Amino acid sequence: MAKIKMPVPLVEMDGDEMTRIIWDFIKVNLLEPYIDLNLEYYDLGLPHRDETDDAVTIQAAEAIKKYGVGVKCATITPNAQRVEEYHLKDMYKSPNGTIRAILDGTVFRAPILVKGIKPSVRTWEAPITIARHAYGDVYKDTEYKVDGAATAELVITKKDGEETRLHVFDYNENGGIVLSMYNTDDSISSFARSCFNYALDTKQDLWFATKDTISKQYDHRFKDIFAEIFEAEYKEKFEKAHIEYFYTLIDDAVARVIRSKGGFIWACKNYDGDVMSDMVATAFGSLAMMTSVLVSPQGYYEYEAAHGTVTRHYYKHLAGEETSTNSMATIFAWSGALRKRGELDGNRQLMEFADALEKASIATIEKGVMTKDLALLTELDNVKVVNTENFIKEIKLRLDKLVG
Ligand code: NAP
Ligand code: MG
Repeated sequence: MAKIKMPVPLVEMDGDEMTRIIWDFIKVNLLEPYIDLNLEYYDLGLPHRDETDDAVTIQAAEAIKKYGVGVKCATITPNAQRVEEYHLKDMYKSPNGTIRAILDGTVFRAPILVKGIKPSVRTWEAPITIARHAYGDVYKDTEYKVDGAATAELVITKKDGEETRLHVFDYNENGGIVLSMYNTDDSISSFARSCFNYALDTKQDLWFATKDTISKQYDHRFKDIFAEIFEAEYKEKFEKAHIEYFYTLIDDAVARVIRSKGGFIWACKNYDGDVMSDMVATAFGSLAMMTSVLVSPQGYYEYEAAHGTVTRHYYKHLAGEETSTNSMATIFAWSGALRKRGELDGNRQLMEFADALEKASIATIEKGVMTKDLALLTELDNVKVVNTENFIKEIKLRLDKLVG
């Protein structure tokens, strides 16, 4: 069979540790035999980030802006221990944070569902995609510990010097704590547009929730911006696509999510998204089955697995021990990126290949062939636990039947 052609490059971002090893297995076994890969390669592995003073991360983000689609391997976000381990020149920022800042995107996380691994929530039949507004709020707040009797005020000074002073609280001699946090109309608007676009893209309803009844200025601003943008730009498109935008209070949303069948996008403010994405991932099974895509308001896409570099497995691998690391989310990062490349270029063969790759991967697990993490969760009998490499080879056997 002739290999599938890719006229426009896909931006490839390599990464670290166990996921870097999986990355190579996937390319060699599941992609190169079928596709004449046209990739623009950026090595975001920590040693190369260090060599380039992290310039490579910025170059990769710029390349996504140029070509529209990227696929990224998990990468180490250095801390003090990593600076020592890798003899780094600097404690570089999270590559995901750097890329997100350049693309101004929203991250959508969705679980991969397979028969035989049931969500902890009985009613969930389809994936719930969480969209987290990863900007501002408590993550960029200013906090202060008040010692003793004091008055806290909020002061806003306009460019022309006009001052607004708001009384916050009078503390008694035992003191207390105070914080201020912010968000911007620009960032909330970008978030809203990314969510509306992604809902249209994936033909799913969009839910959004805040606590606007209590937070009458702050949270209410989120509600209003979403409503205004929806009315002005998306209402008709949603009607045509037969999907809905649904706004409710955050506590009502939580209750409805648990009773729902799934199959929608849940847009969350920053803190809600941080907390709820962990809950949803756990309830659906395993972090190793969570996919993640960064979507910018301009329509740039970056696909990756939601999990990290699986350090514990990597050290076992280095020690010569066998590993059973689940490559599903990384495979789906590739299939997602290839499908999107295909959509943008009108490349039907590439889109069909992406479908086949996902189908072969899911069929492998549903036949009882899986890595250790899933073997602990499944209700299937006759499970065959395989190592990291053999799991990918088992997928290849099934992929060959689908595309051969
Ligand atoms: P992690 O890599 O997600 O792994 C945490 C644990 O989850 C693993 O030890 C493993 O549990 C399980 N796990 C995760 N993915 C798995 C998979 N594919 N197959 C099987 N089990 C899997 O998180 P971490 O250990 O906290 O972080 C490691 C490094 O990743 C850090 O340096 C961090 O900076 C980086 N990180 C990167 C990203 C990103 O690039 N997007 C995201 C998060 C973290 P068991 O050990 O019990 O088997
Ligand atoms: Mg979290």
